[in-house]
Amino acid sequence: MVPLLDPSPLPEAARALIADLVAPSVPRHQQVFVNRNLRLGGIEAIGFDMDYTIAEYTPAMETLQVRMTLERLIATAGYPKAVLERPYDPAFAIRGLVIDKQLGNILKADAHRHISRGLHGFRQLPKEERRALYRTERVSMRSDRYALVDTAFAVPETWLFAHLVDLEDSRRRPRRDPARYRRIYDDIRVAIDTIHADETLKTVIRADIGTYIRRDPALADALLRVQGETKRLFLLTNSLGNYTEAVMRHLLDGLRQDRPSWRDYFAAVVVGARKPSFFSSTDHTVALDDAFRPTKKRVRAFERGTLYQGGHRAEFEQLLGAHGDRILYVGDHIYGDILRSKTHSAWRTLMIVPELEAELARFDDAADAVRRRDALDARRRTLDAELHRHEELATELEARGHTQAACEAAVHVREHVVALREALRSTLAEIFTLNETLYAGFNPHFGMLFKAHDEHSLIGEQIEDYACLYTSRVANLVHVSPVQYFRAPRDLLPHELTHEP
Ligand SMILES: [Mg+2]
Repeated sequence: MVPLLDPSPLPEAARALIADLVAPSVPRHQQVFVNRNLRLGGIEAIGFDMDYTIAEYTPAMETLQVRMTLERLIATAGYPKAVLERPYDPAFAIRGLVIDKQLGNILKADAHRHISRGLHGFRQLPKEERRALYRTERVSMRSDRYALVDTAFAVPETWLFAHLVDLEDSRRRPRRDPARYRRIYDDIRVAIDTIHADETLKTVIRADIGTYIRRDPALADALLRVQGETKRLFLLTNSLGNYTEAVMRHLLDGLRQDRPSWRDYFAAVVVGARKPSFFSSTDHTVALDDAFRPTKKRVRAFERGTLYQGGHRAEFEQLLGAHGDRILYVGDHIYGDILRSKTHSAWRTLMIVPELEAELARFDDAADAVRRRDALDARRRTLDAELHRHEELATELEARGHTQAACEAAVHVREHVVALREALRSTLAEIFTLNETLYAGFNPHFGMLFKAHDEHSLIGEQIEDYACLYTSRVANLVHVSPVQYFRAPRDLLPHELTHEP
């Protein structure tokens, strides 16, 4: 038992003092979860990505992105106006899916690259078809055939792909072009890249920023709380200067009187960082002038209030005066922010996973069903082992069937085997029904973000492998002490388990 603090013997004033200072327990959906131990007291600088990390986009952003991409496809790639007729479904896709560009399929893979669910366009792939296609084909993320849906930006693209594959299939064409799905994928990518590159999308967002980016009043306090007395904060984003200025102003300006400008929060601000190549390139950092134009002045140290552009990790550390595992970087992109900083540097990582909030709420709603399923899983393992043991015993007895005693024993054991089989069958049926109920609350096509049936999903595995910490949003840091010790649960391999869970 953990001894609990009991203030009851104290006078009232002393009790009130303690009650004031003891934080209420943090709700689960706002907690920071730990994969690897991290002592926040030893961190000297905390950096933030901007888009989808410190800046949380509203669902209106996805609808805008889809509409602008379709309009671009009509204007420049010869798609018919009819593509605009189907309304966008924001609940269609999740992060972590795999797009098979060759066959027009959208797949959910587990950590072993086994495909557990799939759609062709909007059509569910029946189990047999899915198995026939992917049982012998290992989904390799290195292959150009597959694309991973790994950013929040890519989620609406997945719906677009399904929509256009569906439309393509519905057209009657005498001869089908074998590369048609891949072309759809490439067309979508080009359209999206151009609406980003020519700033069409960002111009619309900037004109009406409150519609597209959520302003969270808790953000300012969260940044200052986690910074404590000794740490410095920095912003490191791929977005360019003018857009960063507009977004950050919207998020932070005016939240606190002692920090009138968003720039007051950060010891360094680097825009146009070109992550992930930032972690391995050798480009130099340049300072920007007030009109966000690069200046020729050599950068010798970061100055508060100035915006910088580009550069690379080693130079950045030197200019900041903080190095390696003394830096904690907070980002939402598993590859650009988390994986590359992990593989090319010693930076510690905190991943923002907004989906956690809704997933945890659903898990809490289904807590009884989860417990029941865990108990049934344990029962299934025991039944499996018992069945196997008694089948062997029956076979052994039957082999000695020339005596009366062996015959009687064999018949008796066989009857027991039948009973075990029946118990196993009904347990599996109950697990199946419970799973259906459990999954029904999550994405109807692809289920949970972190799990694919009993395994980690591909993205669940990546988060576990590369993110030291993860949480649903930056504002949750308001609950974190600047000297907190994040301790990971002890990881056990199956042989280290001392008893059946
Ligand atoms: Mg981002």
